[in-house]
Amino acid sequence: MATLTVLGAGSILPRTGYGCSSYALRPEESGPVTLLDCGPGTTRQLAPAGIELHDVRRVVLSHYHTDHCLDVFALAFARRSPFLAPPPQLAVYGPRGLDELLGSGGEVFGRWGRDPARDVHVVEVDGEGRGGFEADGLVFTCARTLHTPNAVAWRVDLPSGESLAYSGDTGENPAVAELARGVDLFVCECSFPDAEAVEHHLTPSSAARLARDAGVKRLVLSHFYPSNDPETARAVAAETFDGPIELARDGAAFGLTG
Ligand SMILES: [Zn+2]
Ligand SMILES: [Zn+2]
Repeated sequence: MATLTVLGAGSILPRTGYGCSSYALRPEESGPVTLLDCGPGTTRQLAPAGIELHDVRRVVLSHYHTDHCLDVFALAFARRSPFLAPPPQLAVYGPRGLDELLGSGGEVFGRWGRDPARDVHVVEVDGEGRGGFEADGLVFTCARTLHTPNAVAWRVDLPSGESLAYSGDTGENPAVAELARGVDLFVCECSFPDAEAVEHHLTPSSAARLARDAGVKRLVLSHFYPSNDPETARAVAAETFDGPIELARDGAAFGLTG
């Protein structure tokens, strides 16, 4: 059974147990790992999650707010360490802006910001705001979320038949519901309590409506800002979504199919 380990369940604001966004997808018990987002602190969260640096073969980014992407540079630095065996190839995927982001690392950090064993793939979206790619039998599909001009949410369909969707950052967006249609596990941002709702982010109620509209089998609420109490968020979401609701926290691991 594939597992998803939460490496960062919070926001950029400091909160114990809730680091910046990153989720490690492992289709098999050991073996290659895909990181969905790579916010600050991701690299240091690998060891407690039982993930070796060299297990990380793919990074898939949702957008370029620093809390979702900044550790691509820490990862590059770590992978260049002379104290490690040469790393295997790392593929990095993301929407438009990825070349500029990774190029800036080379400019600022010199060779320590460049990863010679890294393939960079900019995923273009079509007129409908959809795009994707396939790797190691995993099918990745994205949909534009409108959180930023290029931000996307991701869906992953595994060869085992298991499926996962990750909202990235989004508002209540029918394109995201369509992307997440019927997945086994939906990791959905739940930034703020209902009373503090902001545009292009979700609250417990709007995340639950998105999960209900998508007909997902299981909902994981995540990306909690400090003012959002997770247990309260779950109770509020349960008024709208009647499937199982889990709460992300750094280090939590979820089987895709329970
Ligand atoms: Zn964002
Ligand atoms: Zn965010």
